[in-house]
Amino acid sequence: MSYRDSGSIEIIIYAEDYNSIVKKRVIKSIRNSKLSDNGYFWINEIIDFDGGDNYAIRLVHPNLIETEGNYLSTNFKDNHGNQPYLTELNGIKSDGYVLFDYYFKKLNSSKVSHKLSYSKLYKPFNWVVATGIYLDDVDEFISNEKNIMETSLRRIRVASVFAILIAILICGIIVWFFEKVISTMIKEFNLDINKAYKKLEVIAYKDTLSGLLNRRSMAHHMDEELSRASRNNTYFGIIMLDIDHFKNINDTYGHDIGDIVIQKVSQVLKNTCRSEDKLSRWGGEEFLILAISPNIENLISMAEKIRVAISELKIPVNKEEISVSATFGLSYYNGNKNIKELIKEADDNLYIGKKSGRNRVVS
Ligand code: GH3
Ligand code: MG
Ligand code: MG
Repeated sequence: MSYRDSGSIEIIIYAEDYNSIVKKRVIKSIRNSKLSDNGYFWINEIIDFDGGDNYAIRLVHPNLIETEGNYLSTNFKDNHGNQPYLTELNGIKSDGYVLFDYYFKKLNSSKVSHKLSYSKLYKPFNWVVATGIYLDDVDEFISNEKNIMETSLRRIRVASVFAILIAILICGIIVWFFEKVISTMIKEFNLDINKAYKKLEVIAYKDTLSGLLNRRSMAHHMDEELSRASRNNTYFGIIMLDIDHFKNINDTYGHDIGDIVIQKVSQVLKNTCRSEDKLSRWGGEEFLILAISPNIENLISMAEKIRVAISELKIPVNKEEISVSATFGLSYYNGNKNIKELIKEADDNLYIGKKSGRNRVVS
């Protein structure tokens, strides 16, 4: 740089000076630049593109500061026999840049490791600007990353198993809860059905006032008994009975007392008949008994027993006692009568009994 005074101030900066200022600034900046994972830039200035000893001078090398200013030789070999400077020189000469590998000392360590470098020629200064990474750092990085991935994978696995277990538990609780609710509902439903079925059974087969079988149910039993008797040559009889002058009881004491009389007479039938006999309220104050009996005499004595028991009834009404009687008409299955004929015969005998003075058994 020079300074001349000729009436005006003139500053001339020579190209050489200018270049050396720029170079110094760049060298300073590159030396101070820090890359990740201990990476750095280095600069060699090529003196002789033909190579050989002293082909270049090392300008910047943060890893080997003490060697900055040293001359380099393309004949240099690393400890694996590679000639990195020769490879580098050939690469930049043919393409302007080169990517190559060799063995070199690591930064802040005496360990020599496999290194991958990228070098590029900056033609105006004949500089080779380079940087590189140590492949064992990459291996370490990959192995660290792998460890991190495996740890997070393990965490995800544990979390997934935990989530699945929680889901199974929740499902189990829901299933258990619904099973409980549904089984309770089914139990209640079954109870209701049983109650309804029993009510239905009572409605279908029983007479509500007397608690005896109703007419429809008795008709069914008679059909069954007839087919059993014709199949097995067994015998049975029918006892039809009707409370005498029942209308008078209703008229005198009222319909409710009439109902009580029907219930009391029904109770007498239950007490005097055997469990194998079928008892029914045939209609109004009329009853029909299907009696398993070996002969007509036995049937007559059974009817007589019931008649006496009814006539001995004392039904308390308003501080007095009512007595009642009933008339009986019988028929006996002799092997060739049907149910209709048997009922008609019993009914006819009952009519005869009524006509001939009531409170008697007619067969
Ligand atoms: P008989 O000796 O000839 O049989 O005379 P009776 O009065 O018993 O016969 P009748 O057929 O004249 O009258 C029967 C009465 O029974 C008429 C009817 O109102 C009454 N009756 C029918 N069913 C019931 C009932 O469930 N409860 C009450 N309290 N009365 C009934
Ligand atoms: Mg009557
Ligand atoms: Mg009657």
